[in-house]
Amino acid sequence: MLVVMQQGATEEQIQAVIDRLVGMGFTVHRSTGVLHTVLGGVGPVDDFDPADFEVMDGVKECHRIVSPYKLASRYFKPQGTVVKVQGVEIGGPKVITMAGPCSVEGRDQIEAVADIVAAGGAQIMRGGAFKPRSSPYSFQGMGEAGLKLMRAAADRRGLLVVSEVMDHTQIPLLDAYADILQVGARNMQNFNLLRELGKLRKPVLLKRGISATIEELLLAAEYIMSGGNYEIILCERGIRTFETYTRNTMDISAIPVVKRLSHLPMVGDPSHGTGRRDQVLPMARAAVAAGADGLLVEVHPDPDHAVSDGAQTLTPQQFSDMMQQVRAVAAAVGRSA
Ligand code: PEP
Ligand code: MN
Repeated sequence: MLVVMQQGATEEQIQAVIDRLVGMGFTVHRSTGVLHTVLGGVGPVDDFDPADFEVMDGVKECHRIVSPYKLASRYFKPQGTVVKVQGVEIGGPKVITMAGPCSVEGRDQIEAVADIVAAGGAQIMRGGAFKPRSSPYSFQGMGEAGLKLMRAAADRRGLLVVSEVMDHTQIPLLDAYADILQVGARNMQNFNLLRELGKLRKPVLLKRGISATIEELLLAAEYIMSGGNYEIILCERGIRTFETYTRNTMDISAIPVVKRLSHLPMVGDPSHGTGRRDQVLPMARAAVAAGADGLLVEVHPDPDHAVSDGAQTLTPQQFSDMMQQVRAVAAAVGRSA
């Protein structure tokens, strides 16, 4: 249930509503907007009458939230969430770019990547140190050594770092090196991992599972938010369909749908979304035109020799072209990049 407080409601009035919700068995999450404070009561309680709350002092209105996700619903924060990470705002007017290799491979590679990413004007460097590979015989990532190299390369150029956490036991390590923790498509419903990330106070980039519906994506976000970590960035990275020409089918329509259903920022990943570097640029443009708050793309100084996902990884020139074109598309839809 959702209680919207009146503009100017006092702290005592807000506290009275919180106390009543808690007394009924709800866990209360608070969202402070420019005009209204919204209190989200979540929990297995359904015998209540919204009118009991609507007559309380300082209350504007009270609703049952019919969607299975509550805190991720746009009703909880109608103005939208802006995830702020050290001066970079994801979900604001500026389209943010996260770029880098699929995997951190070594010092020379990651230093070269950092130069390319910074020169293109991206704000965040990506790179996997723990890789969820379809085959157990494929490269599994450099682990902590890779995180260390990426952190140093990013710091030298004022970039932020996003990297994947595959398991809840890796959270402290990722927390030490990354500014944003990525949950990969294969882990979108790893509920133990999601719950543990709910205890963290650091942004999470949550990728849509390969067969996940939009509702399942929002419920995965709800797992993290129910623990009190509200800093979530969603990511459309393509879903599995009957089409085989592309690695996945990038569901561009998921971007405006999620923006309508949820207040959380959403980025598009045209690299995993298509699996082909010749299709990354048009789908990056499409994602931004559709309202994406950012892009996640793979780029490598020598993608033909990348240890993972080379076919979908941009060359430095393609990345620079993409950044230029994305700026033009962003401007056309009233944003910047
Ligand atoms: C990645 O970002 O390199 C990755 C493994 O992505 P996904 O989980 O979307 O497959
Ligand atoms: Mn990859």
